[in-house]
Amino acid sequence: MNDLIRRFVFVTMLLAAVLLVLAACQTVQTTQPGAVGVERKQTMVLTSNQVNRSASLAYQQEMKKAAGKSALNRNPAQVSRVRAVAQRLIGASGAFRVDAPGWPWEVNVVTSDEINAWVMPGGKMAVYTGLLERLRLTDDELAAVMGHEMAHALREHGRERASQAVAQGVAISVIGAAVGAGEAGMELAQLITDLTFNLPNSREHEREADRIGVELAARAGYDPRAAITLWQKMAQAGGARPPQFLSTHPSPENRTRDLQDYSARVMPLYESARRR
Ligand SMILES: [Zn+2]
Repeated sequence: MNDLIRRFVFVTMLLAAVLLVLAACQTVQTTQPGAVGVERKQTMVLTSNQVNRSASLAYQQEMKKAAGKSALNRNPAQVSRVRAVAQRLIGASGAFRVDAPGWPWEVNVVTSDEINAWVMPGGKMAVYTGLLERLRLTDDELAAVMGHEMAHALREHGRERASQAVAQGVAISVIGAAVGAGEAGMELAQLITDLTFNLPNSREHEREADRIGVELAARAGYDPRAAITLWQKMAQAGGARPPQFLSTHPSPENRTRDLQDYSARVMPLYESARRR
């Protein structure tokens, strides 16, 4: 009897959870297709608001950790170089989302040997000195990395991945993270941290970020073909221990050919941006 009741309660709770997810489900188009023509409907369970607020918390925590190790924005010349490139890319982001140039974007430089850069939902970015120095990035290549990261934010890939985790029942409780505060908000922040550092993007997300990234670079007046040399440098670095960056940004099939294709497609945008 007891067992029967327990089973009944379990099934009821499961049903309630499924209904909650279904009720929250919505299909969205996060970005305009742009010249590169990225178009794919995305299923979201969480709202941008929920995700961005928790991402903001997660980001603050990471920056606090870096500051605690005296590893935050140590070299003013490096910081202003990175921010200047970011600023130009942000100026171009309106081609994909009209509101994006007004987002509270943030970019900080973390002192670390690791070859890495990352973005959290809402446009909270970090670039590691290991990436800048060990790969000797040119400004065009730096724009390729940051354009790629910004594309993940514009496409709300983080929100999509967190939504998938919720739909799979991995993180049901975060659905209550209405304002990003409280326990559910903290749990969502933890999930975002995990997605950022430990879980690889899908190849589909990578392909979208590559294509939007080259267009952002071109529109901002950076040579979009630098994305090709960037990924080549990335692949050559590290030897037996591949860069951290590659574990969270896996290679979609035919990345080089795709980048050649799409950078050629946006060359006219690059040329007209340079004439301005
Ligand atoms: Zn990526």
